[in-house]
Amino acid sequence: MGRQERPLWKWYLVVMAVAVMAYFATPDSWVQTISYNAIALSGIIAMLIGLRRDGVTAAGLWRAFAGCQMLAVCGDVAYAWYARHLHDFSYPAPADAFYLVAGLLEAVVLTLVLLRRLPTRDPAGVIEAVILAGAFALVAWVYLMKPVTEAADLTAVGRLVAISYPVIDLLLLALVARMLVGGGARNGAFRPLAAGMVSYLAADYAWAFTDHFQFDAGTFTSHLMDAGYLLAFGLYGVAGLHPGIADLAKPILISDRHFSRWRLALLAGATLIAPLLLAWQAWQGHHRVTDAGAIAFGCIVMFLLVVARMAVLVRQVERQADVLERQTEELTELAQRDALTGLANRRAWEQALPKALERARRDGRPLVLAVMDLDHFKRYNDRFGHQAGDRLLKEAAAAWTSGIRGDDLLARYGGEEFALLVPDSSGPQMAALLDRLRPLTPFGQTFSAGIAVWDGEESATDLFGRADAALYVAKDEGRNRAAFAPA
Ligand code: GH3
Ligand code: MG
Ligand code: MG
Repeated sequence: MGRQERPLWKWYLVVMAVAVMAYFATPDSWVQTISYNAIALSGIIAMLIGLRRDGVTAAGLWRAFAGCQMLAVCGDVAYAWYARHLHDFSYPAPADAFYLVAGLLEAVVLTLVLLRRLPTRDPAGVIEAVILAGAFALVAWVYLMKPVTEAADLTAVGRLVAISYPVIDLLLLALVARMLVGGGARNGAFRPLAAGMVSYLAADYAWAFTDHFQFDAGTFTSHLMDAGYLLAFGLYGVAGLHPGIADLAKPILISDRHFSRWRLALLAGATLIAPLLLAWQAWQGHHRVTDAGAIAFGCIVMFLLVVARMAVLVRQVERQADVLERQTEELTELAQRDALTGLANRRAWEQALPKALERARRDGRPLVLAVMDLDHFKRYNDRFGHQAGDRLLKEAAAAWTSGIRGDDLLARYGGEEFALLVPDSSGPQMAALLDRLRPLTPFGQTFSAGIAVWDGEESATDLFGRADAALYVAKDEGRNRAAFAPA
């Protein structure tokens, strides 16, 4: 063993691509029918082989998908039998039954896959898919469906069959669009599967329009369109062989998806189809528009869809703005709080003090502040450990807070230094308050304080400086006491 082998899906991709190219050389005979269906069958078998691996999510659905392709192959064989052997070209034919059932079942299977893959509510994704499919629906109505409803040479059944093809294609197109705008990992199985479906739809629309415009497709062109179908079968095989198939039907979580330029260009292009069709018809018919009603209806629906998509976007932006505002509030709040004690921190204190001075000046009221500092806190830390020191800080803060009033401000100014601001009070009142706080200090610890009464003029810095100086006096005088700063 040792060397890593080239994975099977790569081999198959190469062989299939060569076979599709070789198909261009086959003459319009049974040889063509056989080589066409051999390639198609190889894709179905490759997919079924890939699905035998362990742990494929919704393997049953993917087998049903392969079954739909098998029905389409049956349709091709039936068509060839009637055309080549019986020379019977009547319409509708048994082949149509196979094709239509295959298409309908595929739409059901894909819907079930998408319900598994995209389980979260996603109005934006649904609207975008409808915009993309809606643009095609207008063109399909004007050029493929309306002519059928007006065709006099068709029986009722023939009419139903003829209109079912574009309807089923639109259904599949909407599902592919939903899958493509749905987001989620675009793994090695997703890409060939999506490319295969796009290739299938492109071939189908090419045939339908060739038919409508009575354009005589030469051998090369019709081979080219057949190659679209063949490529689809082959790419389904590649998707099945790729290990990514295991996760393709797994639920994906959509966060706010990236709105790429491609997505915008695609949506803009889709919304422009209706007005472009109008311009085209006006130009062609010398200002006589044949499908004014349908085009007007298409424009109205498109406008409404665009407005709905915008509404979803605006709601998303508003939600994000709300989240941002809440986070800003939380951050502002956090920036003002001391993490350990939950008290106002130094930043909050330095914002609050000048405001309090301003208010006191305006109201002509007194103001007094104190600086408090735990005594011998270093010793406490050294003896009981840093964690015990932290607990003392925390519990002292809580205890003192319980002893002050709501409009008093207690802040942690620094390590074990606190600042207390009491509006509308005097020096003796502050001294009495500190006396009440002293016994609340936990674990039998004490604090010293410096008190400064505002002189009605000095700045916040000067006032605080005087209280701080008074604190050192209290320490010098033996601790566990308060000292007044001289006026
Ligand atoms: P004094 O009575 O003169 O105030 O003595 P002191 O030991 O309290 O003063 P000093 O300023 O010498 O020591 C303060 C100590 O506070 C030093 C530092 O380790 C401690 N400290 C500062 N912040 C914290 C903290 O957040 N947690 C703990 N556990 N200790 C702190
Ligand atoms: Mg201290
Ligand atoms: Mg200190």
